[in-house]
Amino acid sequence: MHYRKLGKTGVGVSAIGLGTEYIWHEPKETVARVLFEAINNGVNYIDIFMGSPGIRDHIGDLLGSRRKDVLLAGHLGCIDIEGQYAKTRDPNTSKKFIEDFYARLRTDYIDVLFIHNIDENNEFEEAFSSGGIFEMALHMKEEGRARFIGLSAHKVSTAMRAISKNYIDVLMFPVNPAFDNMPTEQWIDPTIIDYSYSVISDNENQNRTNLYNLCMQHEIGIIAMKPYAGGWLFSEANPSSMVLTPVQCINYALSQPGVTTVVPGCKNSEEVRAALAYLEATDKDKDFSSVIDSPMWKIKGKCMYCNHCQPCPTGLDIGAVIKLVDTAKHGLTESLVAEYRALNKNASDCIQCGLCVKRCPFGVDVIAHMKVTMKVFEDAL
Ligand code: SF4
Ligand code: SF4
Repeated sequence: MHYRKLGKTGVGVSAIGLGTEYIWHEPKETVARVLFEAINNGVNYIDIFMGSPGIRDHIGDLLGSRRKDVLLAGHLGCIDIEGQYAKTRDPNTSKKFIEDFYARLRTDYIDVLFIHNIDENNEFEEAFSSGGIFEMALHMKEEGRARFIGLSAHKVSTAMRAISKNYIDVLMFPVNPAFDNMPTEQWIDPTIIDYSYSVISDNENQNRTNLYNLCMQHEIGIIAMKPYAGGWLFSEANPSSMVLTPVQCINYALSQPGVTTVVPGCKNSEEVRAALAYLEATDKDKDFSSVIDSPMWKIKGKCMYCNHCQPCPTGLDIGAVIKLVDTAKHGLTESLVAEYRALNKNASDCIQCGLCVKRCPFGVDVIAHMKVTMKVFEDAL
């Protein structure tokens, strides 16, 4: 397993995490197979957003003394009404369900306590106002019952608001190539499939990119949910004709700035193994550059940090360099400079051979990026 630092929390998180939404109503034996396939292979991040008692009891029982080996994410504001998912902004109802989380998971603390699913401005205001659920989360953090506070969201605007106001340590956000290229309202409602790609504005694409960069800049680790776009990316019938494997989807998500881990929802141990296959996959298996064949793909000349352009004769990690300079365009920080310094090779090592430019499927002018990188970073050193 690879472990990556979860932004400013400093905690090491497995590159592959586990989402549990597809074993929500499954019997304990199924939950056990999925859970142990994951944690026996080094997965140490488990998201349990659901408020239903069954899944909480099963995971609490199964983890037992191994609780301390994993990071558990719980969600404040996610509840269960007669076996169905629901969300609330009401502090009393939220409290009741989060106390149930502690009791059933048999734990005194939650590693990442998310303010659950805030997509609209009015929800944001309600949750983050005085007496709201964010204030409750802060109290729980002060008491040592929550180590870190996160926000789960599907829209850029509320996520950016929380980060800019320095409210959160972690962001849970959907990251996949389909959502990065589609207008939000179309993937939030999957029944809308008869759409015109022309309605995608550069602005929307740009906003998601800006959000990832903002997270990297503020050292907010992103937990990438929906890496497969709910399985949509596996289907030949999807309207984007963008068809990828789990390994390609995971590589895409993990390549984006700020992303620490992916949390695919797995309904059986085979699906866990399909995600873990990323760890042993070859560069060819991980290559997601076929996305550019989709009529949906609108991003031209923008680095996807895939390193399809490697090897570089001077040993530059091209994707890593460009990711840093893309983020620094939104503001140079000490941590970005430190990351740049820590690279084995810097932009000034580029001999402008142009090999990478010929190999890049996304039409990126790498040499121009290296020149900008030198200006941005090496003038600052
Ligand atoms: S320059 Fe092109 S090939 Fe290289 S990392 Fe960026 S997108 Fe990938
Ligand atoms: S142009 Fe620069 S970055 Fe690209 S392969 Fe050549 S030396 Fe490496």
